[in-house]
Amino acid sequence: MYILVTNDDGIHAPGLLALYQALAAEHEVAVVAPESEQSAVGHAISLLNPLRVKKVTKNGSFFGWAVSGTPADCVKIAVAEILPQRPDLVVSGINHGANVGINVLYSGTVSAATEATIMGIRAMAISLSTFREADFRVAAAFAARLAGELPKLHLPAGVCLNVNVPSLPQNQIKGVMLTRQENGLLVERYERRVDPRENIYYWLAGINTKRQVEPGTDFWAIENGYISITPIHHDLTHYACLEALAQMEWPEE
Ligand code: MN
Repeated sequence: MYILVTNDDGIHAPGLLALYQALAAEHEVAVVAPESEQSAVGHAISLLNPLRVKKVTKNGSFFGWAVSGTPADCVKIAVAEILPQRPDLVVSGINHGANVGINVLYSGTVSAATEATIMGIRAMAISLSTFREADFRVAAAFAARLAGELPKLHLPAGVCLNVNVPSLPQNQIKGVMLTRQENGLLVERYERRVDPRENIYYWLAGINTKRQVEPGTDFWAIENGYISITPIHHDLTHYACLEALAQMEWPEE
């Protein structure tokens, strides 16, 4: 397969290198990734600034293209301008940190995969559940295995896979669990600080995990030692509600 690899942690992130190496063992892999970290930019695209594209080398040989934009920009410009052919698959990651629950909406990693499915290309996002020093080997090996399987899955149009891997050695991973997105509210906290000129500023100081995590969800899976796979879809329509609303009387013009 011809695979496009991207991420939101930036082209120099170790998670992207681990993913590239695992996939390049069996596939032709192109890297087009943000030149700087773009975590939590969601599905943003650049309209007010140009996109600058630069070649990046590693150990003296060509590695990939760095783009001065977001993960979604990277997928768009890779397919439209940079790559010599359309990729068979887009893999985004390996993100340093889980992308489960509501974080899926903020995630640049997931949005790159979503962008690919919007363009009609198979895609998956993969994230490692740790904020500490990361060992990406287990997640990279799983990404390579799943990439080989993906064409056989016949995912419906517009559906990509959001994969989260617990930060555990291979022999402590209990298996793979198909999950739904955790829906609970996250508890956020802003740290209030004072700058040297005595102006007050705030900084999002981390997200506390929910105390009660529902079984069957992406969050529950990684908390309990399972690799989580959630099929996700960019169409935000709530179809059951649409039907219910259609039964109601609406004001005439
Ligand atoms: Mn990230």
